[in-house]
Amino acid sequence: MEPEARQRYLRTLPAVDELLHRPPIETLLKIHSRPLVVDSIRKVLGEKRRTILQGVEEEAATAASLTADQWTHAVTEEVAATFRPSLRPVINATGVVLHTNLGRAPLPEEALRNLVEIAGGYSNLELDLERGERGSRYGHVEELLCRISGAESGLVVNNNAGAVFLALNSLAEGKEVIVSRGQLVEIGGSFRIPDVMRKSGARLVEVGTTNRTHLRDYEQAITGETALLLKVHTSNFRILGFTAEVLLKDLADLGGARGLPVMEDLGSGCFIDLSPYGIEHEPTVQETLQAGVDVVTFSGDKLLGGPQAGIILGKKKFIDPIKKNPLNRALRIDKLTLAALESTLRVYLDESRVLSALPALGMLTCPLKELATRARRFQRKVSKEISGECQITLREDSSQVGGGALPLQELPTRVVAIRPLKLSAAALEERLRRSEPPVMARVKEEEVLLDLRTVAKEEETALLEAVKKALGNAEFGVRNRKLMNS
Ligand SMILES: *Cc1c(COP(=O)(O)O)cnc(C)c1O
Repeated sequence: MEPEARQRYLRTLPAVDELLHRPPIETLLKIHSRPLVVDSIRKVLGEKRRTILQGVEEEAATAASLTADQWTHAVTEEVAATFRPSLRPVINATGVVLHTNLGRAPLPEEALRNLVEIAGGYSNLELDLERGERGSRYGHVEELLCRISGAESGLVVNNNAGAVFLALNSLAEGKEVIVSRGQLVEIGGSFRIPDVMRKSGARLVEVGTTNRTHLRDYEQAITGETALLLKVHTSNFRILGFTAEVLLKDLADLGGARGLPVMEDLGSGCFIDLSPYGIEHEPTVQETLQAGVDVVTFSGDKLLGGPQAGIILGKKKFIDPIKKNPLNRALRIDKLTLAALESTLRVYLDESRVLSALPALGMLTCPLKELATRARRFQRKVSKEISGECQITLREDSSQVGGGALPLQELPTRVVAIRPLKLSAAALEERLRRSEPPVMARVKEEEVLLDLRTVAKEEETALLEAVKKALGNAEFGVRNRKLMNS
């Protein structure tokens, strides 16, 4: 495009003041503050200016020839977009149950109710109602946690990374902590055991090799400087073949004999054995405590199925200094999380309700037969409503646990596989991701796979609509471009 043409197009753009005085926009000013409306106008104008400067004649011409109605519409849309949350619900059709990028465990009904009630008003967060004295915020969950797990004492913080950091700082600052080389894990890039340990002020003493560590390795490394023996559950990877790991019980016995606390970072923190449902046995919190560890830390939003939280349980003697650590204040759990966590934990008091009440556990243990029926029904609906746009098949596949837990676990599932005929699978995936609500799906061999394991039944209609829209061509194109421009 010629520079003169570019100038000509730019000159046709209205001035901010001119737009401000158009009647529909003046109406906007009655509802919203002037700076907000001015900002929105500037944003819309900036967008059009950029389009023109990019130099594609056709697009520049479109940007420069908006009608008065189109301008007011664009500004009104922009004002509305200001109030639309960036954080919004997404339909998870990936089959990854504890998807960290999608917020891990969805909360149970009772947690949601309690959360809303506590969030909207005052509560006895740090108040002992019986004695009228200051109470502890952990009080609401400590007893519950001890009752479920058999621990003597406990506290909760913001997340498990915080729990590990706080426990190490409380129990081993300036001292040595012995860890097996096979357990120096990295979780999601920003959390590496050696880094967290350094930041906590503890000195890492590595023992053993990547694949084999023996009890004598720990024994020989103990010095007058040793403060803690640490085990890290290798939740997100497995070492196979010629391997040896020290049994937790043996490590606990060694700690006991030498007067050293033994801590395990359990990662997931499962309260029930899921092996009857075909899920690989994950050491439970109860088993870990029974093995004799002094302190155990785990997440609230992995296999426990609750909100993001870091839970620290163990012997009172070692939990007390953690509670008293001033850093605890910096990592403390907020009342909303606490409300959700307490309700989630109460579900565990009646084991028969766990799988039906906690969505994450329900999804993980959903029988294949049920998944197949849902997939078939969904396939039929798509085929009926959309013809000629795609081939649609049911396929055997596997869902994943996610959240860095049980990395090798294959959860057999049936997926609805969509092969679009007029666009690529990658393009369909993108359209789904950019729809409202956004749909996250997997692409495999030129097919978009929808795994209903992680889709709530109430979301199925919205999913069907999204698929219909994404496969139907023209209308989506316009809508999509608008979304991209706003
Ligand atoms: C997931 C995990 C963590 C981090 O937990 P967050 O709750 O995500 O902070 C730490 N250690 C292990 C072993 C884990 O699996």
